[in-house]
Amino acid sequence: MKKHELSDEFRRLNDPSNYVTRAEKRHRGYYFERFLFSLLESEGLEPSTNYRPEGEEIDGSFRLDGRIFLLEAKWHDKPMPASAIYSFKGKVDGKLCGTIGLFISMSGYGPDAAGALIRGKDLNTLLLDRADIESALSETSSFRDILNERLRTAAQFGIVYRDQKAEDASHWQVEQSVDSFLLDFGLDSGVKIYADQIIREGPCTCKRTACVGHQEKVYCYFAIWLSEWVVTTGLYWQCYDEQVECERIGCGLIHPRGHTGKLGICNAPYTDQRRQTDEV
Ligand SMILES: [Zn+2]
Ligand SMILES: [Zn+2]
Ligand SMILES: [Zn+2]
Repeated sequence: MKKHELSDEFRRLNDPSNYVTRAEKRHRGYYFERFLFSLLESEGLEPSTNYRPEGEEIDGSFRLDGRIFLLEAKWHDKPMPASAIYSFKGKVDGKLCGTIGLFISMSGYGPDAAGALIRGKDLNTLLLDRADIESALSETSSFRDILNERLRTAAQFGIVYRDQKAEDASHWQVEQSVDSFLLDFGLDSGVKIYADQIIREGPCTCKRTACVGHQEKVYCYFAIWLSEWVVTTGLYWQCYDEQVECERIGCGLIHPRGHTGKLGICNAPYTDQRRQTDEV
């Protein structure tokens, strides 16, 4: 298949009107696997499907520059939980050293999925999501390019997943047990952040089940150059900026979530502005 044909196929896969019933949704996974097979084949990556060593189910395998990849592809409605990633990694662990697992989830990943991988003994599994597939289909890139870039980042920094949507420098979703590495993902913004500049990290503190612009809670890193107020909120920047009805009694305004309780903006400012609390 040519690239434009693959793009057309991907567009068809993405059309929600094709997947209304449960049965149709089940088929989507199958069509997605078939689409990936065509994509891999078009780039000479020698895919083979239904690789089932000793009863394990793995969606397929392929080869890049002599290296074997095991593939698992999912298109669910909800982000992939860490447990699904663990179980896939378990399959990869038993294979010949040097084999790499590639998990592709169109619905992204749960908060601890990438963390689950880097805490394992061997770093042998990479995670891709919708944004990566879209990049692979763009005129200026390819699946090979994406894969090579990821292999390099994983080898250099131990980073297995890059959430392309989290582009704000202060909120990289790098899922990395940070030491003193330079985290350089300047692909979109050109901004660099050093690990020792990170002063807070953790899932966004908003009460939404999924953060703004995401299908899951965003894991955030806060850099030292951000204002103390921003860091104390613990909010992902898109959740920070979202206009909400203020939850503070006596405020009654609609203002950015991040400005809740902020003196000069919120009508009900916290008594302790520094700690953002009313407790003394
Ligand atoms: Zn949030
Ligand atoms: Zn995300
Ligand atoms: Zn307010």
